Amino acid sequence: MDSAAVEPADEHVRDAFQLLADETRLEILFALWNAPEWTATFTELKDAVGMRDSGQFQYHLNQLAGTFIRQVDDGYTHLASGIALYRTMLGSVAGTESIDPISLNESCPNCENRLQLTYENQVFYARCSTCDETLFSSPFLPAGLGNRTDDERLWAFDRWTRRMVGNLRDGVCPWCASTVNHELSGESSADETDSDVRIVHTCNRCGGFLKTTVGETVIDHPAVISFFYDHGKDITTIPHWKLDFCMSDSGVELISEEPTEIRLTIREAGDELTLTLDEDFTITESRRLKPQDGTRN
Ligand SMILES: [Zn+2]
Ligand SMILES: [Zn+2]
Repeated sequence: MDSAAVEPADEHVRDAFQLLADETRLEILFALWNAPEWTATFTELKDAVGMRDSGQFQYHLNQLAGTFIRQVDDGYTHLASGIALYRTMLGSVAGTESIDPISLNESCPNCENRLQLTYENQVFYARCSTCDETLFSSPFLPAGLGNRTDDERLWAFDRWTRRMVGNLRDGVCPWCASTVNHELSGESSADETDSDVRIVHTCNRCGGFLKTTVGETVIDHPAVISFFYDHGKDITTIPHWKLDFCMSDSGVELISEEPTEIRLTIREAGDELTLTLDEDFTITESRRLKPQDGTRN
């Protein structure tokens, strides 16, 4: 643990945004965003912004330094945070704000009606239009909708979500890069056989969170990929909502709550893959079993 780590307060974030409330400083950032390798000399920046007073200009550069830009040997360069902010806005502003719901060709586990993907407030929701059950949801920037057919949107959304879940599971916040805490959600209980076992991944810094099934967290594990591959299925290219073990809890057993131990059994073409996960939701054991003859390998 790094004892020198500083917890960010709202005022730190407010101060950073406040720096942007100035025309000259915004012009400096735009000049750098458009500069080769995001680097420019003092003179290049001053000319781009069109400010004559060098002292005044230096003042604004100093204000931005450390938060959005940094002085380097040959001038100034953007920090990654400034570029990330710019890209987030590029992914969001003037983008497609609404699309018609897209059918997922999957049935609702509750009522058997068709599930559809709806887009609201820049978040995708996989929902049943009849019983209103939400199976999963995940933020997606509007730029991901433009220049794509519905099939391509589904593909992009699947890719985006898988990486987000992978980062969260691996303990790296996909939004701020900080550490992530994993917890069984309140609905889970070892006493109830039909309970939903969900894992809530929460960033310790920005508070960003996502609730996943157990299956979603093991989707890219070699044992899982190879199990399906041996049955002629490449699950790295199949949308995660088409994989039963990702969407359903039928193969999940909560063995123990303190400490957490979960068993996930994945079935395919008469074969079984059983995974055991510990309190960090890490796979500690994987076994393949052919139920017909009891052979393990
Ligand atoms: Zn339904
Ligand atoms: Zn975070």
